[in-house]
Amino acid sequence: MMEPPLPDPALVVLVGASGSGKSTWARARYRAAEIVSSDDLRGVVGSGRHDLDASVEAFALLDLIVGGRVRRGLTTVVDTLGLDDVRRTGWLDLARAHGLPAVVVAFDAPADLCRRRNADRDRPVPAKVLTQQLRAFRGVLDALPDDGWDRVVRVSGADVAPAPAATPEPVHPRRDGLEVVLQVSRFPWGDDPGTWLRDVALAADEAGFAGIALMDHLIQVPQVGAAWEPIPEPWVTLGLLAGLDTRLRLGTLVTPVTFRPPGVTAKAAATLDVLSGGRAFVGVGAGWWEREHLGFGLSFPPARERLDLLESGIETMRALWAAGTKPYTGARVALPETTAYPRPLRGIPVIVGGGGERRTLRVAARLGDACNVPTDAVVHKAAVLRRHCEEVGRDPAEVAVTVLDLPVVGRDRDDVWERVERLRGRTAAAAYARRHHAGTPAQHRGRYAALAEVGVSTVFAALPDLAGPEDVLAVAGMLP
Ligand code: GDP
Ligand code: MG
Repeated sequence: MMEPPLPDPALVVLVGASGSGKSTWARARYRAAEIVSSDDLRGVVGSGRHDLDASVEAFALLDLIVGGRVRRGLTTVVDTLGLDDVRRTGWLDLARAHGLPAVVVAFDAPADLCRRRNADRDRPVPAKVLTQQLRAFRGVLDALPDDGWDRVVRVSGADVAPAPAATPEPVHPRRDGLEVVLQVSRFPWGDDPGTWLRDVALAADEAGFAGIALMDHLIQVPQVGAAWEPIPEPWVTLGLLAGLDTRLRLGTLVTPVTFRPPGVTAKAAATLDVLSGGRAFVGVGAGWWEREHLGFGLSFPPARERLDLLESGIETMRALWAAGTKPYTGARVALPETTAYPRPLRGIPVIVGGGGERRTLRVAARLGDACNVPTDAVVHKAAVLRRHCEEVGRDPAEVAVTVLDLPVVGRDRDDVWERVERLRGRTAAAAYARRHHAGTPAQHRGRYAALAEVGVSTVFAALPDLAGPEDVLAVAGMLP
């Protein structure tokens, strides 16, 4: 019996008689903190799980906890009998009010199985009470379709499915279809930068990443870390990685066109390409952070000028990578000669970073081999890119769609949540988890498969909590 995945986050209300398997089902799928159980709360305010005298306070506490979690958009499993119509629909209304999907899971275990399990318990429910529960459950089952739940799941308690098995690890390496490049944006390399970089790259190769992209910033950006954390010059660093025995493609994501004259970037990339046996790529963007420009004595012209620079910069690079030494005269650039050696071994892919719809994606359509946009916007941005391609007469198939993805990846549900709590800063946990698609490797792999379906060729994945090679190996299971 294969269950389709339930929405997550969601409010999950369990319904079923004693012994129908509710608590067991919940424990196999959710973190302890996500399960709010009336039995447990009787044990908190009363003498124990079976202290019925404590029910009123236990349910008051339950409502307080469920209310607090649902308001914060956190997954909440309500583990009670679920047979009380007023309570049950009250939880549904609460989820509605806070925009959380609401699911009911009905445990339709055979009556004699419930009775047998009940009889085996230390403190069985009286037989008459269980009979009443079983009868009430039939009534609730009839009412559920009309309550308005987003999903009604029926679990037949006799053959309750085990927790969804971890999807088997993929065969590796597999380089067809969608590929995932590790984007490294933080460098907690301690007192041995070279070893750290080497070990991260070797781990990326071993895990099955298709390449490594380095962020190109002069000061660490606030979105990633503190200004005093190291952020190395990428072309120098890529030179070190080029000397390792890997198949990784190597490049930047992205190099602001404002940092170096584009001809010099063309030279750096061509050098990297020959040193790495033809594995170089260049991500380019218009630059956005004024502070790092001013701090390094670079000018930071207005956006329109930077976008002009992006356009002429790509043209310059392509002119200097082309065969021959003849003068170049193009739409925006004129060079008296193009004597540039070493020449790259093969066409160096140019990935235009940024989702700006009017100019950036148009530059990608005119001059890029690929665009790079945030994951969550990819369907819309890809449509905009296609429109630009049509307008400028470029075959859309020539411009790949790539995304920048910032996945929080944890071994299991508990680990995922620990990471979210550690990383979220002042952002609400549910919002942070959503933005970073917090999940297990298998969940990310499913998401990447879906991205491939909508035409994404490459995912650039930046792990927000990358500390070292072991973190890279730990996410191997998310790769296709
Ligand atoms: P609840 O009263 O609905 O919360 O039921 P529990 O989850 O506490 O389960 C009652 C008993 O049935 C426990 O002893 C469980 O170990 C057992 N049980 C529950 N689900 C399953 C199942 O899928 N398979 C088996 N073999 N036992 C189960
Ligand atoms: Mg229970």
